[in-house]
Order: sequence, then structure tokens, then C-alpha cells
Amino acid sequence: MSDKIPHWLQKQAELSPNRLAAETPEGRKLTFRQLHEAADNAAGRLVTLGITKGSRVAVLSPNSVDMIVLIHALSYIGATLILLNTRLTISEWTYQLQDSEADLLLAPAAYEQAARETGAAVCTMENLGQQAVSAYTRCTELSLDNVFSIIYTSGTTGNPKGVEHTYGNHWWSAIGSALNLGLSQHDKWLSPLPMFHVGGLSTIFKSAIYGMPLYVTKSFDEQTVQTAIMQHGVTIVSVVTVMLQRLLRLQERDGVTYPETFRCMLLGGGPAPLHLLQEAKTRAIPVFQSYGMTETASQIVTLSPEDSLRKLGSAGKALVPAQLRIKGTFGLAQPEEAGEIQVKGPMITNGYYRNADATASAFQDGWLATGDIGYTDREGYLYVLDRRKDLIISGGENVYPAEVENILSGHPSIQEAAVVGKADARWGMVPAAFLVKQQEVSIEELQAYCEQRLARYKIPKNWHWVEQLPRNASNKLMRYKLQELLKEDSGSCS
Ligand code: ATP
Ligand code: MG
Repeated sequence: MSDKIPHWLQKQAELSPNRLAAETPEGRKLTFRQLHEAADNAAGRLVTLGITKGSRVAVLSPNSVDMIVLIHALSYIGATLILLNTRLTISEWTYQLQDSEADLLLAPAAYEQAARETGAAVCTMENLGQQAVSAYTRCTELSLDNVFSIIYTSGTTGNPKGVEHTYGNHWWSAIGSALNLGLSQHDKWLSPLPMFHVGGLSTIFKSAIYGMPLYVTKSFDEQTVQTAIMQHGVTIVSVVTVMLQRLLRLQERDGVTYPETFRCMLLGGGPAPLHLLQEAKTRAIPVFQSYGMTETASQIVTLSPEDSLRKLGSAGKALVPAQLRIKGTFGLAQPEEAGEIQVKGPMITNGYYRNADATASAFQDGWLATGDIGYTDREGYLYVLDRRKDLIISGGENVYPAEVENILSGHPSIQEAAVVGKADARWGMVPAAFLVKQQEVSIEELQAYCEQRLARYKIPKNWHWVEQLPRNASNKLMRYKLQELLKEDSGSCS
């Protein structure tokens, strides 16, 4: 059997040349034929700069149509794409550029100065547009086994790791998602998630593979997203929890109900508080909760809205091409028994770039050991509890910080909450809470609130008020920073 498929963009330009491929709020529109021509041209220009098959090219850019063009251009040449997070520091970019052995860094002019400080060879996207177009041999076929992209993990638990994705990983991710969500001729997908993360990147391939337009916004802005849903025919939006929260607030303020054609709010990237899911349900927003990680090339487990009330808080079941199992302390876990979430499927990476140790410890007999703890219920629905590294064992009982955070952030006076383990002479560890307040509230009241909702051992024994929580460039909570604070232990409130 051949592992080759026709290049997805060229194919779509042949199948549906006049169909819309990309659109922006500013009114820029490209058909699949135009996108193909733009990518082919950009490829010729990159070749003028010396980029050839096998070159390694990093892209540092906020979302834009030009970024999509570049990504397809690199696959037309057969070069490897390395995506950098725009929110990182120069030293973090430098590390990733060196680690990934990038030959060239492409960025919009606004990033030029910072990009040059990394010491990499830099070409601005504007400058690329001025280059001559060289003749080159376009890759008309994609080998599913070939690596196309490298994306660094968020670095929530330590140093980011360069996840390699093959064309096959992206292909199967798009197919798995389509088998789950279904395809509609009327679909238009908006991903305010950055394309330098796999959730955003995956929509570029879905668009080419499905023949579906993308509504491209530079970043997340709730007003733009709401207008796109209400007026520009957007039917699917990918979000993380904070984005959903902001969309709900805006919807409430404007008294707006989304049209019935809006069929999916794909929620992923991290835990979602139950009260938020409940609110979305009452507002008839079709939220698809999902679980995935950079290593799985986007979501790998998804819950359909039909199940969302019955299975509130669950991330659902593995997509059609994927499998899920829970590894307990002694072999596979029973239903309802917590253990490590392990997944398997053709969308999962083969490993980390130049990091054989991390790759070896991430896989067990072909299964990816995610480092996350969860359980499945008797019907096989997954519930994600937390990261294994963040588990608090207090007096022999397991405390999952996300569960406690969930309760605390549900209190009307609390804007955000984070929970970590604090060393304790009697219990080994006890939960400690870091809180950002919405309005004044006493610790006694919060304790009483927790007592009604949480077992005693889960209630924080140590409380801190903070202005904000430490989040990384992906907006994920960095609990280890709070642990460092605890070690220094500046004045707690209890
Ligand atoms: P690093 O691996 O460098 O520490 P990271 O794991 O945060 O960073 P990502 O790949 O961006 O990098 O995030 C994947 C992680 O996000 C998952 O392993 C899981 O911990 C969390 N996550 C994703 N979906 C969910 C979900 N539905 N519920 C809870 N946590 C989730
Ligand atoms: Mg991870």
C-alpha cells in the first residue's frame, strides 16, 4: 500500500477552485485556487532564498492569511515547519530555534527586531514578498510518514519539548475530527486559537482536506467572534475555557442568541469548570468538550453536545481512529478507578525532536502515556482529573487540584483559583489555595463554602490572595511557580 496522498491544497484547488478557502474580518477573501497560487508563488520565493526540500524553516507570526500561505508553501517545497509562540521571550525563541536546528526564521516586520536578537537568519514576510519567484519542483504528493511540523509543548510542567508531526498525523487528526463532527457544505471554521499551537494549526489542514473556508482573525476578540457567528456564517469555533467565558459574558450583555446554523463550539486545551459548561448549556451553545495535547495533533477525545448534560464535565470518548485506556497501579484500571490516561492512534506523534529520552518515556507498548490522570465511567466516558505531577496526596488520600479550583472559582467573589500541595508534617501534604478576588470575601466564608462541597481533606489548609496567577504563554496555569512561592512562604492568610 502506498503511504502517499495527493497534496491536499493542490487537490482542493483542482476539486473546488472557486470555493472560498479563507476570509478575514477586514474583507480579504481567497478561493482555493488563489490560495494554491499564493502558496506556489511563496514557495518559489523561498527557493530564491535558498530553501529547498529538507530545509528547516521557523515561522513566528500571529494568525494571518499570509501565515497560512507560508505553511502550505513550505509543504510544496518539502521543507519542515517549526512554529514559534509569539508570546515567548527572546531567550525561549533562541532555545527552540537552536534545538530545532532552524535554517531560517520568517516573521512579519513587526517582529523583525526581536527575531534578529535570537541570532537566527531572518527574513520578514514583507521582504519575502519582494523576492523573485524561482522555478522549483513542487511536492505534488505528501508521504504520510514524513515529518512536516515541529511544535513545542507549552512547557507547563518543565522545558518545552519539540513534538514532531508527520503529514499522516495531521491527516488522521482531520479525518478523526470529521468523523466526529460530520462535514457540511455550509461550514466555516473560526479558530481564534493561535496557529502556532496545534489546535489552531490543525484547522489549516482541515480547511484544505475538507474544502472548507477558514475565518481568520489575528487573535481572540469576543466581539469579533460574536459578529462572525451572527453575521458572517461561522458555524464552528475552537476555543479554550477563558475564551468561552468571555463569549458568554458578551452574549449575556448583548442579549444575543446564536443562530441554529452555529453547530459547534469546540472546547479544549485544559479543564473547564462545571458551572461554565452548565451556563453554556442553558444558553443552547453546542459545546463539544475535548481532550488532547500537542502530541496528539489536536483533540483525540471528544464529547458531543447530546451527551454534555448527562455527562457534564466529561471529555467524552476517543475519536473513531483512536483508542483510550487508563493505566492503574496494577495493570489496566477498572471503570471509575483513576489512573494515567493513555492513548493510541495514527494522529499521535512518533516522538520529540532530538529528545530520545523523553520519547522513550512517553510511550509504553505503542501507547502514549499522557502524564494526565483520569478515569472512565461504566459507559467508557473519560473524565480528566489532573496532571500526575500536580496530584496532592494528603494523609494517603488523593486530592486533584483541578477539582478544588473548580469549586473555589464557582464562588461569586472569586475570579480565579489555583491549588497546589504544601508540605505538612502531619499529613505529608495539604492543599494550598491561591486566589484572585472578584470582590471582598473572608477566608472563613470560603472555608464554609468548601465544607458544603468538598471532603474535609480536600479543603485548602493554607490560603493566599494574589493579584494574578502565574500563566505561561499558552495561558496555562504554572502551578510549579506557586510551589516555589510556597517554599519561600511569604505571609499566608491562615
Ligand atoms: P508541557 O507538556 O510542556 O508541560 P502542556 O502539557 O501544557 O506542556 P499542551 O500539549 O499544550 O502542553 O497541553 C496538553 C495538556 O493540557 C494535557 O496533557 C492536559 O494536561 C491538558 N488538557 C487538555 N485538555 C484537557 C481537558 N479537557 N481537561 C483537562 N486538562 C486538559
Ligand atoms: Mg504536556
